Amino acid sequence: MKKASVKVQEVTCNRTPIEKSCISLNFNNEKHENLYNNVNLNIIKLVQNNLNQKLMKTLYQDPQTKSISNEYKNNLIYYYVFILSYLISLGAFAFLLHNINYLSKTHLEIHITCLSIIGFISILTLILLFKSQKVLLNSRNAFLIIASCLNFYLILADERILHKFTGENLSEKQLPLSLGLICTIVLSRIILFDYFFYIFILGTPTLIIFFSSHLAISGYSSYSIFSEGSLITLFISLQMIECYRADFRIKQIFYRREQEAVEDSSKLTKKDSLPIPGINTEVENILVKCNTITKNLKHISQVVIYKDLKRLLKKSLTNIDKIKRKVAHGGFETGRVELSPALDDDDRVYITQNFLGLNSTNNLNQQRSLFDLSERAISFPFSRYGVNELECILAGVGKNWSFDIFFVYESTGHSISMVSKYLLQKWNFFDSYLYVSKKDSEKAKILEELATKYFSELESAYFQNFYHNACHASDVLHSMLYFVLNTDIIKNLGSLDLLAVVIAALGHDVGHPALTNRFLVNNRDTLAIQYNDNSVLENMHCSLTFSIMNKPGCNFLEDLSSSEWFTLRKLIIEMIMETDMSKHFEILAKFRTRSIVLSDFNISIIEDKCAILAMGLKCADIAHSAKDNDLHIKWSKLVTEEFFAQGDMEKQRKQTVSMYCDREITDVPKSQMGFLKNICLPLYEVWCKYLNTEVINNTTLKCLKNNLAYWESMIKKRKGTVLIPVYPTASEMNLKRHQSEF
Ligand SMILES: [Zn+2]
Repeated sequence: MKKASVKVQEVTCNRTPIEKSCISLNFNNEKHENLYNNVNLNIIKLVQNNLNQKLMKTLYQDPQTKSISNEYKNNLIYYYVFILSYLISLGAFAFLLHNINYLSKTHLEIHITCLSIIGFISILTLILLFKSQKVLLNSRNAFLIIASCLNFYLILADERILHKFTGENLSEKQLPLSLGLICTIVLSRIILFDYFFYIFILGTPTLIIFFSSHLAISGYSSYSIFSEGSLITLFISLQMIECYRADFRIKQIFYRREQEAVEDSSKLTKKDSLPIPGINTEVENILVKCNTITKNLKHISQVVIYKDLKRLLKKSLTNIDKIKRKVAHGGFETGRVELSPALDDDDRVYITQNFLGLNSTNNLNQQRSLFDLSERAISFPFSRYGVNELECILAGVGKNWSFDIFFVYESTGHSISMVSKYLLQKWNFFDSYLYVSKKDSEKAKILEELATKYFSELESAYFQNFYHNACHASDVLHSMLYFVLNTDIIKNLGSLDLLAVVIAALGHDVGHPALTNRFLVNNRDTLAIQYNDNSVLENMHCSLTFSIMNKPGCNFLEDLSSSEWFTLRKLIIEMIMETDMSKHFEILAKFRTRSIVLSDFNISIIEDKCAILAMGLKCADIAHSAKDNDLHIKWSKLVTEEFFAQGDMEKQRKQTVSMYCDREITDVPKSQMGFLKNICLPLYEVWCKYLNTEVINNTTLKCLKNNLAYWESMIKKRKGTVLIPVYPTASEMNLKRHQSEF
């Protein structure tokens, strides 16, 4: 068997004291080399030393109140009752002996002085103990000194030694001082919590001084001294052995308890070091690892006592913090998204296709514009109704989470015009919010008319798609306002910011062709060519939102100063551009890091305001997942139908059908469950945590979880049965639409 030969080698290095004395153990056995190389023995000693200090603190001090611990209080009572009564009775006994002429006046004075000094020091220590924490923690040194003084007195004040110093006659009777030596050891064990080291340095010199003083000074070498001395030696030795055992036991229990605590905390660290559940970017994982390193370093710096090493650790902590901030603020461009291996295969394809940029695998078709969806004429029963007639219902916008936009649309044929007009009127926007400095009611009226025209044009620029239509835009505005008006966000928004929110929400999907970015790029659509395959739809929505303003009679923002205009434009562009789902994980990761890991959002800074409002709009864009179950099912049906229509088109073009777009094979509950679980829930959890508002948690998150449970129950119900599409087919839907026309 090959034995590992250990070679202890001093490493000479002149930097830190710990490095100077660093001992590296070199194992010839290669297998063990990595494990045992450069083990710093000093560190082990330091840990033990620190544990000893911690043990002492635990014994003497209550960790919560930082005052004297209960055990120590009890010990103090025993100690003081005994020692004071012993000192008093010795004094009284000395007076008695003096009265019957067995003790000279000089000796009496010496005894009384020594006893008074020891009594005074003891009481002073007791008072200071209660007054100062420093004295409390160092009190065992004080008690060691008191016990040593007492022992000195007990040995040297023995009549047989004292008479040599004073020259008085040796008395026949004397004070029982030797008995006191035994009592001191017992009392010290109580007050020092059986701390062996102190008992040892108290007991051993006591015995040495006892024997040497009697032999050298008193000159007694009689049998009585030896028998007395051996009895004391025997008792003190037994006390020391017992003390050693007790001390060892206490330390063993304490170390074990500490080890368990460290193991528990390391378990926690291990748990923390796992990435945040869900789908994370590379950068986010780096930040989580940074946090683990920070935690470990903090733990180490608690144990280490050398100042220069502590300084080094502190510097490292600051550097890690700097790295974290740098990575969080600027490093997301290169962050790759890491999909969890636990993800369902279909969901993985769906997320890769729609939430992680584009990968073109489709057969390519000839270039054509896709803006040829014909408008469908539908009549509405209350199309003549205006804002005033529907005021009670419109009052729910931004207030009542389950506000039903379908009702407004189905009764009037309008959604954007109604909602925008209602809000601007309700807020008395042009009169009191905008252009306050140039208060002019005539001007306000003109502006209001221009705005009405603008929003009406915006509405008509929406196609009557199943899902991406004006109703969706109005619903997104409602959800967005719900987040803004029910939280502190509103306190930090000016009138222009609020207007930016309204325009961005209402315009965020304008001109949507009911096809995905991926489809447009793969089919080399003119839009994809125009916007260089980059967030094609979002660029188009944004551009269209502003270009409608240039239509005659629509520019209600003409009078804005250039700085106002650029702020408004920046906010709107950022909000709309961030609704691009292919950037979902990057945006979520960045927001999560800023809001939860760093907690450094400052809404008064324009960049942070942009990020917060953009996140709000992003959440509002998929808010149907967090709405009441009936509303959610309605929206889900519509979005699925829009996907299926694209799937039909892909089939027609003999292209690979996008995931969850094939009406014949798509398992709708499964696809919805995946969407809610992987996309919506993580997003809403982060957003709600940031908003930190009970009302919003109770409505949004609760509904979202409820909807998730609904789809899960659907899957369970259908398990083992034949797969049947849950929703009506497009032809059935069209039939229903035509029926409603008659
Ligand atoms: Zn949208």
